[in-house]
Amino acid sequence: MTAPAIVANTLDLIGNTPLVLLKGPSEAAGCEIWGKCEFANPGASVKDRAALGIIRDAEARGELQPGGTIVEGTAGNTGIGLALVANARGYKTIIVMPDNQSQEKMATLRALGAELVTVPPTKFANPGHFVHTSRRLAEETLGAVWANQFDNIANRRAHIEGTAPELWEQLDGRIDGFTCAAGTGGTIAGVGLGLKERDEKITIALTDPHGAALYSYYATGELHAEGTSVAEGIGQGRITANLEGAPIDTQFRISDQEGLMWVARLLREEGLCLGLSSGINVAGAVALGRELGKGARVATILCDTGFRYLSTLYNAEWLAAKDLPVFDWLKAN
Ligand code: PMP
Repeated sequence: MTAPAIVANTLDLIGNTPLVLLKGPSEAAGCEIWGKCEFANPGASVKDRAALGIIRDAEARGELQPGGTIVEGTAGNTGIGLALVANARGYKTIIVMPDNQSQEKMATLRALGAELVTVPPTKFANPGHFVHTSRRLAEETLGAVWANQFDNIANRRAHIEGTAPELWEQLDGRIDGFTCAAGTGGTIAGVGLGLKERDEKITIALTDPHGAALYSYYATGELHAEGTSVAEGIGQGRITANLEGAPIDTQFRISDQEGLMWVARLLREEGLCLGLSSGINVAGAVALGRELGKGARVATILCDTGFRYLSTLYNAEWLAAKDLPVFDWLKAN
């Protein structure tokens, strides 16, 4: 047992997250399913890595000057990561979010000191979409930089240089498969590229929620979405710059019901309180593990903390209104 890391700089708390063997999923898959604990980052999500990578890149290119502003459109977690890193580096943050995201994320962003702008959710082609709104705001604000997480590959570089080598080292170079869902695609593409560099036989699988177009893209070559999902932070309808050249070998489509089943089991049986994208990732990892067979080692991402979704995933009325199964223990309260 080695002692936990000691760091001299708060930004060094980002990354180097623990990896945990998940008992229920391993039993269900008949092999080892490992979860990378990204909720253990200071902003409680995987997006702290992208936020730090994007800000360091903008600094290195001389775009972000002391006292400058970082502007971004985000489902919330990237904004939280950016706000924390910006505070530590002396920048201001302006965050544009669709107004259907969890109240907890909005309250958190305000608490961290970010300026929050909310817009109605729309299709990407609409100029009012949160991504386009954030780009315009960055152009109009003096000394501002647009983080552009979807098409700025400093995002996936954080996973090529951080998450992938960490997984490789944590599993002693014996890893058979990796899977996760895509929002920007930075995690799946970056971890995929980083792992393939070390062993090209590792199977990289995309796990897609319903309502996203990537499952169909990797299966048939056509972007086509079916169904819907309430999962926040995942579900992509286009090939972002971060997804270009992602080494995807196979793909799974996972329903919210199946993802929620794993959210419930991980909480009640293993004491992990997670968001829905983590549940969907674990369902995908179980599917991949079953394909790879007995003795295989599969890793996935536990993207963010469930504390961010108390008013949604962990709220009986909200679940019932969305026609989703209500967790048993919530019914009793
Ligand atoms: N899960 C959650 C909760 C997220 O906020 C995000 C980021 N959008 C993801 C998964 C997906 O990560 P990525 O953007 O790297 O594809």
